[in-house]
Amino acid sequence: MARYRGSVCRLCRRENLKLFLKGDRCYSDKCAFERRSYPPGQHGQRRGGKYSDYRLQLREKQKVKRIYGVLEKQFRSYYRRAERQKGITGTNLLLLLERRLDNVVYRMGFASSRNQARQLVRHNHFLVNGRKVNIPSYLVKPGDVIEVREKSRNVPPILEAMETVVRRGIPNWLEVDKERFRGVFKALPSREDLTMPIQEQLIVELYSK
Ligand code: SF4
Repeated sequence: MARYRGSVCRLCRRENLKLFLKGDRCYSDKCAFERRSYPPGQHGQRRGGKYSDYRLQLREKQKVKRIYGVLEKQFRSYYRRAERQKGITGTNLLLLLERRLDNVVYRMGFASSRNQARQLVRHNHFLVNGRKVNIPSYLVKPGDVIEVREKSRNVPPILEAMETVVRRGIPNWLEVDKERFRGVFKALPSREDLTMPIQEQLIVELYSK
Protein backbone atom coordinates (compact mmCIF):
# COMPACT_ATOMS: atom_id res chain seq x y z
CA MET A 1 0.00 0.00 0.00
CA ALA A 2 1.31 3.44 -0.94
CA ARG A 3 2.27 5.80 1.85
CA TYR A 4 4.25 8.97 2.40
CA ARG A 5 7.88 8.15 3.18
CA GLY A 6 9.44 11.57 3.55
CA SER A 7 10.08 13.57 6.71
CA VAL A 8 6.77 14.14 8.48
CA CYS A 9 8.07 17.22 10.27
CA ARG A 10 8.34 18.91 6.89
CA LEU A 11 4.58 18.46 6.57
CA CYS A 12 3.93 20.43 9.77
CA ARG A 13 6.24 23.18 8.57
CA ARG A 14 4.54 23.23 5.19
CA GLU A 15 1.07 23.53 6.75
CA ASN A 16 2.29 26.04 9.35
CA LEU A 17 0.68 23.97 12.09
CA LYS A 18 1.73 21.24 14.51
CA LEU A 19 0.07 18.13 13.12
CA PHE A 20 1.36 15.82 15.90
CA LEU A 21 2.63 13.13 13.56
CA LYS A 22 5.56 11.91 15.64
CA GLY A 23 4.17 10.97 19.03
CA ASP A 24 6.32 11.95 22.01
CA ARG A 25 8.70 14.06 19.99
CA CYS A 26 5.88 16.49 19.20
CA TYR A 27 5.66 17.41 22.88
CA SER A 28 9.41 17.87 23.34
CA ASP A 29 11.75 20.70 22.48
CA LYS A 30 13.02 18.56 19.59
CA CYS A 31 9.86 19.39 17.62
CA ALA A 32 11.06 20.73 14.27
CA PHE A 33 8.11 23.12 14.02
CA GLU A 34 9.05 24.77 17.33
CA ARG A 35 12.57 25.25 16.07
CA ARG A 36 11.84 26.33 12.50
CA SER A 37 8.26 27.43 12.05
CA TYR A 38 8.64 28.43 8.42
CA PRO A 39 8.05 26.31 5.28
CA PRO A 40 10.75 23.80 4.35
CA GLY A 41 13.00 24.13 1.34
CA GLN A 42 15.62 26.52 0.10
CA HIS A 43 13.15 29.40 -0.27
CA GLY A 44 11.03 28.54 2.74
CA GLN A 45 11.83 31.73 4.62
CA ARG A 46 11.23 33.93 1.61
CA ARG A 47 7.75 32.77 0.78
CA GLY A 48 4.70 34.64 1.90
CA GLY A 49 2.44 37.19 0.36
CA LYS A 50 -1.20 36.82 -0.53
CA TYR A 51 -2.78 33.38 -0.85
CA SER A 52 -5.11 32.83 -3.81
CA ASP A 53 -8.44 31.08 -3.10
CA TYR A 54 -7.15 27.98 -4.83
CA ARG A 55 -4.00 27.92 -2.73
CA LEU A 56 -5.99 28.24 0.49
CA GLN A 57 -8.28 25.39 -0.56
CA LEU A 58 -5.40 23.19 -1.62
CA ARG A 59 -3.49 23.77 1.62
CA GLU A 60 -6.58 22.95 3.68
CA LYS A 61 -7.07 19.69 1.82
CA GLN A 62 -3.41 18.76 2.17
CA LYS A 63 -3.50 19.56 5.88
CA VAL A 64 -6.45 17.26 6.59
CA LYS A 65 -4.95 14.45 4.47
CA ARG A 66 -1.75 14.75 6.45
CA ILE A 67 -3.40 14.87 9.86
CA TYR A 68 -5.20 11.58 9.16
CA GLY A 69 -2.39 10.05 7.07
CA VAL A 70 -4.52 9.47 3.98
CA LEU A 71 -3.28 9.76 0.40
CA GLU A 72 -5.07 11.56 -2.42
CA LYS A 73 -6.98 8.70 -4.00
CA GLN A 74 -8.44 7.43 -0.75
CA PHE A 75 -9.16 10.95 0.45
CA ARG A 76 -11.09 11.70 -2.70
CA SER A 77 -13.12 8.52 -2.26
CA TYR A 78 -13.98 9.62 1.31
CA TYR A 79 -15.11 12.92 -0.15
CA ARG A 80 -17.35 11.22 -2.73
CA ARG A 81 -18.87 9.10 0.01
CA ALA A 82 -19.39 12.16 2.23
CA GLU A 83 -21.11 13.92 -0.66
CA ARG A 84 -23.59 11.05 -1.07
CA GLN A 85 -24.50 11.08 2.64
CA LYS A 86 -27.22 13.26 4.13
CA GLY A 87 -26.08 16.41 5.92
CA ILE A 88 -23.14 18.74 5.46
CA THR A 89 -20.50 17.26 3.15
CA GLY A 90 -17.53 18.80 4.97
CA THR A 91 -18.69 17.50 8.36
CA ASN A 92 -19.47 14.08 6.87
CA LEU A 93 -15.93 13.95 5.49
CA LEU A 94 -14.36 14.66 8.88
CA LEU A 95 -16.60 12.10 10.58
CA LEU A 96 -15.59 9.40 8.08
CA LEU A 97 -11.94 10.14 8.80
CA GLU A 98 -12.58 10.05 12.54
CA ARG A 99 -14.13 6.61 12.20
CA ARG A 100 -11.01 5.04 10.71
CA LEU A 101 -9.73 2.30 13.00
CA ASP A 102 -6.17 3.68 13.08
CA ASN A 103 -7.55 7.07 14.17
CA VAL A 104 -9.74 5.51 16.87
CA VAL A 105 -6.81 3.46 18.22
CA TYR A 106 -4.73 6.65 18.38
CA ARG A 107 -7.53 8.66 20.00
CA MET A 108 -8.07 5.94 22.60
CA GLY A 109 -4.40 6.19 23.55
CA PHE A 110 -3.24 2.74 22.39
CA ALA A 111 -0.72 4.40 20.04
CA SER A 112 1.22 7.64 20.26
CA SER A 113 0.55 8.74 16.68
CA ARG A 114 -1.82 7.78 13.87
CA ASN A 115 1.13 6.45 11.95
CA GLN A 116 2.07 4.13 14.78
CA ALA A 117 -1.59 3.15 15.19
CA ARG A 118 -1.74 2.16 11.53
CA GLN A 119 1.29 -0.08 11.94
CA LEU A 120 -0.04 -1.67 15.13
CA VAL A 121 -3.39 -2.36 13.47
CA ARG A 122 -1.67 -3.95 10.48
CA HIS A 123 0.32 -6.15 12.83
CA ASN A 124 -2.88 -7.67 14.21
CA HIS A 125 -2.74 -6.21 17.71
CA PHE A 126 -6.44 -5.24 17.89
CA LEU A 127 -9.88 -6.78 17.99
CA VAL A 128 -13.11 -5.03 17.01
CA ASN A 129 -16.14 -6.55 18.74
CA GLY A 130 -14.01 -9.60 19.55
CA ARG A 131 -12.87 -10.18 15.95
CA LYS A 132 -9.38 -9.61 14.58
CA VAL A 133 -9.25 -6.58 12.27
CA ASN A 134 -6.00 -5.52 10.61
CA ILE A 135 -7.31 -2.92 8.17
CA PRO A 136 -6.38 0.63 9.27
CA SER A 137 -9.16 2.17 7.15
CA TYR A 138 -11.86 -0.05 8.72
CA LEU A 139 -14.74 2.26 9.70
CA VAL A 140 -15.72 1.96 13.34
CA LYS A 141 -19.41 2.39 14.22
CA PRO A 142 -21.02 3.76 17.39
CA GLY A 143 -21.13 0.98 19.96
CA ASP A 144 -18.09 -0.88 18.59
CA VAL A 145 -15.62 -2.19 21.14
CA ILE A 146 -11.91 -1.92 20.32
CA GLU A 147 -9.61 -4.14 22.33
CA VAL A 148 -5.90 -4.87 22.48
CA ARG A 149 -5.44 -8.60 21.88
CA GLU A 150 -4.48 -10.51 24.98
CA LYS A 151 -1.11 -11.58 23.64
CA SER A 152 -0.34 -7.98 22.60
CA ARG A 153 -0.85 -6.45 26.04
CA ASN A 154 2.86 -6.30 26.76
CA VAL A 155 3.86 -4.69 23.46
CA PRO A 156 6.08 -1.72 24.52
CA PRO A 157 4.72 0.94 22.10
CA ILE A 158 1.16 0.21 23.27
CA LEU A 159 2.13 0.40 26.96
CA GLU A 160 4.15 3.58 26.43
CA ALA A 161 1.28 5.21 24.55
CA MET A 162 -1.16 4.30 27.33
CA GLU A 163 1.18 5.94 29.85
CA THR A 164 1.51 9.20 27.95
CA VAL A 165 -2.04 9.67 26.65
CA VAL A 166 -2.89 11.91 29.64
CA ARG A 167 -0.95 14.65 27.89
CA ARG A 168 -3.49 14.94 25.08
CA GLY A 169 -6.52 13.39 26.82
CA ILE A 170 -9.19 11.03 25.52
CA PRO A 171 -12.12 12.64 23.67
CA ASN A 172 -15.58 12.48 25.18
CA TRP A 173 -17.09 10.32 22.41
CA LEU A 174 -14.79 7.46 23.44
CA GLU A 175 -14.69 5.49 26.68
CA VAL A 176 -11.49 3.68 27.60
CA ASP A 177 -10.95 1.05 30.27
CA LYS A 178 -7.17 0.94 30.67
CA GLU A 179 -7.26 -2.02 33.04
CA ARG A 180 -9.03 -4.14 30.45
CA PHE A 181 -7.15 -2.70 27.44
CA ARG A 182 -10.37 -1.83 25.71
CA GLY A 183 -12.42 1.12 24.62
CA VAL A 184 -15.87 1.85 23.27
CA PHE A 185 -16.66 4.19 20.40
CA LYS A 186 -19.75 5.55 22.15
CA ALA A 187 -21.10 7.88 19.48
CA LEU A 188 -20.11 9.97 16.52
CA PRO A 189 -18.53 13.24 17.63
CA SER A 190 -20.23 16.50 16.81
CA ARG A 191 -18.41 19.01 14.61
CA GLU A 192 -17.70 21.13 17.71
CA ASP A 193 -15.92 18.17 19.33
CA LEU A 194 -13.27 18.16 16.59
CA THR A 195 -10.99 20.91 17.75
CA MET A 196 -8.18 20.84 15.17
CA PRO A 197 -8.25 24.13 13.21
CA ILE A 198 -9.82 22.77 10.02
CA GLN A 199 -11.96 24.70 7.54
CA GLU A 200 -13.54 21.78 5.72
CA GLN A 201 -15.69 24.09 3.60
CA LEU A 202 -12.53 25.01 1.67
CA ILE A 203 -12.06 21.34 0.75
CA VAL A 204 -15.66 21.14 -0.45
CA GLU A 205 -15.08 24.23 -2.59
CA LEU A 206 -11.91 22.70 -4.04
CA TYR A 207 -13.53 19.41 -5.00
CA SER A 208 -16.72 21.05 -6.26
CA LYS A 209 -14.91 22.90 -9.05
FE1 SF4 B 1 5.15 18.07 13.65
FE2 SF4 B 1 5.57 16.42 15.64
FE3 SF4 B 1 7.52 16.92 13.87
FE4 SF4 B 1 6.76 18.77 15.65
S1 SF4 B 1 7.73 16.80 16.08
S2 SF4 B 1 7.15 19.11 13.50
S3 SF4 B 1 4.53 18.41 15.76
S4 SF4 B 1 5.56 15.88 13.50
